[in-house]
Amino acid sequence: MKKNSATKDLKFDTKWTYAPAPESADHIQLKDRYDLFINGKFTAPASKKYFDTINPATEKRIASVAEANASDVDKAVTAAKNAQSKVWSKLAPAERGKYIYRIARILQEKARELAIIETINGGKPIRESRDIDIPLAAAHFFYYAGWADKLDYAFPGMKTSPVGVAGQIIPWNFPLLMAAWKIAPALAAGNTVVLKPAETTPLTALKLAEIIQEADLPPGVVNIITGAGATGAAIVNHPNINKIAFTGSTDVGKIIQKSLAGTDKRYTLELGGKAANIIFEDAAINQAVEGIINGIFFNQGHVCCAGSRLFVQEGIANEVIKKLKQRIETLIVGDPLDKNTDIGAINSKAQLSKIKSLVQTGIKEGGECWQSECAVPSKGFWFKPTLFTNVAQSSTIVQEEIFGPVLAIQTFRTAEEVIEKANNTPYGLSGGVWTDKGAKAFKISSKLNAGVVWANTYNKFDPTSPFGGYKESGVGREGGLHGLMPYVNLF
Ligand code: NAP
Ligand code: MG
Repeated sequence: MKKNSATKDLKFDTKWTYAPAPESADHIQLKDRYDLFINGKFTAPASKKYFDTINPATEKRIASVAEANASDVDKAVTAAKNAQSKVWSKLAPAERGKYIYRIARILQEKARELAIIETINGGKPIRESRDIDIPLAAAHFFYYAGWADKLDYAFPGMKTSPVGVAGQIIPWNFPLLMAAWKIAPALAAGNTVVLKPAETTPLTALKLAEIIQEADLPPGVVNIITGAGATGAAIVNHPNINKIAFTGSTDVGKIIQKSLAGTDKRYTLELGGKAANIIFEDAAINQAVEGIINGIFFNQGHVCCAGSRLFVQEGIANEVIKKLKQRIETLIVGDPLDKNTDIGAINSKAQLSKIKSLVQTGIKEGGECWQSECAVPSKGFWFKPTLFTNVAQSSTIVQEEIFGPVLAIQTFRTAEEVIEKANNTPYGLSGGVWTDKGAKAFKISSKLNAGVVWANTYNKFDPTSPFGGYKESGVGREGGLHGLMPYVNLF
């Protein structure tokens, strides 16, 4: 792979390295083996099968988790159905709200422990799990707790009723946060839940099951079952599921959509993305460089809305790319538990080989590949921050989601050209615009075919703000008032 030693203006004398600052993992409490959380109790799986979950930074086993089969799914759905019709829907809405607040507060109390578990199970830097994942997960529960007794105000002039049992399937990139996005609005609106976390990152969802026990939720209101794709499919196909909320890849989203066709199950799909991050000549360049870094390297690029396609206006392209390389050389790749770490471990071996193979394709198709000179540990799954220039609109790495720390850079001359290129992908999840002109930011963002567009910032999330995509990035919205709609019947 071609290396290019970028100037190191931003590097201080190399003797000035950061001292290690690892977060202590001594106080976290994990069991060696986890059963399925069904009807308020941890229950052994019917198959008696368990699989190991590992730390992707060390490849060491952390715990075993149960593999749920169709009969376990049936038990969980039945528990959820009974709890929904007999208990949860009968509670006064303000009482439902109290339970949800209680979950939020316990999440805050245990934030430190949850952040560490998220980091050792998923590979993300502790700074991110501590400052973003866990606080935002709690914020989602707080926000939707507030709606529980105000649904009549959420939809003025209309009455609401719950949809029933929600089957919720989530990915590995923001495990606890995705669970919160899904569970909080469902409960607020009077539904009950069967949730399946991703195979590689089940642990914070299982800790959430313990928190739900501690919050004394009526049994069966939230059921959390672990397993692989087949477990997810059994949830999707169970006849007593009334709504599916799925976040994951576009490929699996399409399979789910096909299985649901012809049924009366409702669904929301939050799928892949290939966002354009657009930098105009009049942008504040240093600020934009930070935004590009955050856009693609946040969570190792395992972000559906990652700014994975950079469009730089021609006149500033050389300057931006030079500054970007300098800044990338200062990023610290390594121990996810170290508070100085900027880029942690790739989530799994499978994801690492997918990234490597797409990067090889990028090189084969004529892209110019540049990588940071940083060292990476020998054990575990790692990928150096990577830039591609000399790529075409038709290049595989410009069209396909890589879901890793790899940025494809293109240039443009006019606004019309960049809008055309930015929208020329099967996805439509997110985008970014950097310009000094407010009117231009509005004009461009309104022409981007994307659910979320950030202007002069990137990757900002808030529970009050809806999130979701167009085209192959999915259907429906999560977050905000819009996030309640999939969970209510309106009349
Ligand atoms: P994935 O392979 O589609 O898996 C997502 C979830 O679905 C996992 O729990 C998975 O279980 C399960 N699953 C797999 N096959 C299934 C099937 N046939 N039926 C039902 N469930 C099935 O996606 P991923 O690799 O975990 O996550 C990365 C993808 O998620 C990326 O494409 C990313 O863009 C997208 N994403 C989108 C958003 C958004 O809001 N739009 C947010 C985050 C991520 P296993 O883990 O056992 O395979
Ligand atoms: Mg998968």
